[in-house]
Amino acid sequence: MKVFGKAALFATTLVLAGWALATAGVAATTEAACADRSLQGNTIIVPAEVRNYGTMQYAQTVDLEDKELVLTFDDGPDDKSTLNILDTLDRYCVKATFFFTGARAERYPHLVREAALRGHTIATHSYSHPNNLRRLSWNRAVRQITRGISEIQGALDGDEATRHIKVAPFFRFPGLNHSSPLRGWLASQNISTFSCDVGTDDWRRISSGAVVYRALRNIRSKRGGIVIFHDTHTRTARALPDVLEQLRVEGYRVAHMVPEAATTAQMALSDNGLTTATIQPQLPSSDGPTLELKPALSLH
Ligand SMILES: [Zn+2]
Repeated sequence: MKVFGKAALFATTLVLAGWALATAGVAATTEAACADRSLQGNTIIVPAEVRNYGTMQYAQTVDLEDKELVLTFDDGPDDKSTLNILDTLDRYCVKATFFFTGARAERYPHLVREAALRGHTIATHSYSHPNNLRRLSWNRAVRQITRGISEIQGALDGDEATRHIKVAPFFRFPGLNHSSPLRGWLASQNISTFSCDVGTDDWRRISSGAVVYRALRNIRSKRGGIVIFHDTHTRTARALPDVLEQLRVEGYRVAHMVPEAATTAQMALSDNGLTTATIQPQLPSSDGPTLELKPALSLH
């Protein structure tokens, strides 16, 4: 389908098709689902050097062009929404970064693997999402981070098809409630911290239409940036087709963040530091057109 003359009709059809696939538990292949590449943007190589990204909290963000954005989804995977969101992303031929939690990865390991197989970046967001890691003891806070990583990597390791894929050295604090000491610890493990540039309010109890409105309003006001969604909400799954279709009409592009190919992050995966694992980056997705590679850091 390459004609988008009736955007609303298309979006409705897309939602219905997506829910049908989710209900049936059948994963559409990326190639079959990819209908229009006009929203597809650059692959952003995030340097191995540890940084804090996202102007909502930090001085710098990934280096994006005007009207270019990065899609991120937190808190999943979720058995009601994640597969539908993956289908929508496939339909628009774009890749996102998923900040999964370890507890949900334990529960839905097949969805972690599905996101990875479809070429998305797999990042982490603690084990059980305590809303403020600062309020935990140091050991418990670090354990939340390391157990999150190990469970999500465990989901990838649980199948031959995804065993070669490694969790990205990207961490997002639950509730965006960071602390300087914990960011320092993450840096010692070669893990970069990701906040965001653009909120969508999809965590609030609002309608999917309100998510569409607020997401577009906030993206337009910044003309792009790292956008934060949550794949644990059906309102987000329902809103995403309309958000992406409107962004396509307005000439936006969706970039895909991947760790620098040469990155090797040594990450302690236990409280006592006796166990370490080598976390290697995912390679950029090979499907789609030849993409411009550029460094992620923006110092302006
Ligand atoms: Zn979260």
